[in-house]
Amino acid sequence: MKIIKNSVVNFDYKLTDTEGNLLDSSEGEPFAYIQGLGHIIPGLEAAMEGKSAGESFQITIEPEKAYGVYQEELIATIPKDQFDGSVEIQPGMQFNAERDGQYYTITVVEVQGDNIVVDGNHPLAGVTLNFDINIQSVREATKEELSHGHVHGPGGHHHH
Ligand code: ZN
Repeated sequence: MKIIKNSVVNFDYKLTDTEGNLLDSSEGEPFAYIQGLGHIIPGLEAAMEGKSAGESFQITIEPEKAYGVYQEELIATIPKDQFDGSVEIQPGMQFNAERDGQYYTITVVEVQGDNIVVDGNHPLAGVTLNFDINIQSVREATKEELSHGHVHGPGGHHHH
């Protein structure tokens, strides 16, 4: 069957940047998601539509359809006392933060006395991504998967 909304798709991928550096890969453990729920980046979800099991393809995705453009305004200075005092904050450390009900990973850029400069951009914001995709299987999502909003079984959740 072809990939349509509510298809469960298992695929292998290799992700490289425009210089050919490997950023991520499924390493033989296919990733599973439900098409149409926004679980994967928009550019990849659009490319998946209509493909079938066994198909392989390559796609280049601009930041706008991947992890977003780099936003200067997501750089912020936060008082040190808002962080857990038991750890020494150092550049490169990452924390989870919540704003308006959305979760972000923030990365410490610099420590300036009692203030910490953080960057709320996704680590891949502003990066053009090249994907090598190999679709392993396509099936219809079960009612239970749709009500949970995630895949059960290989590549997905195992909580039953
Ligand atoms: Zn579930």
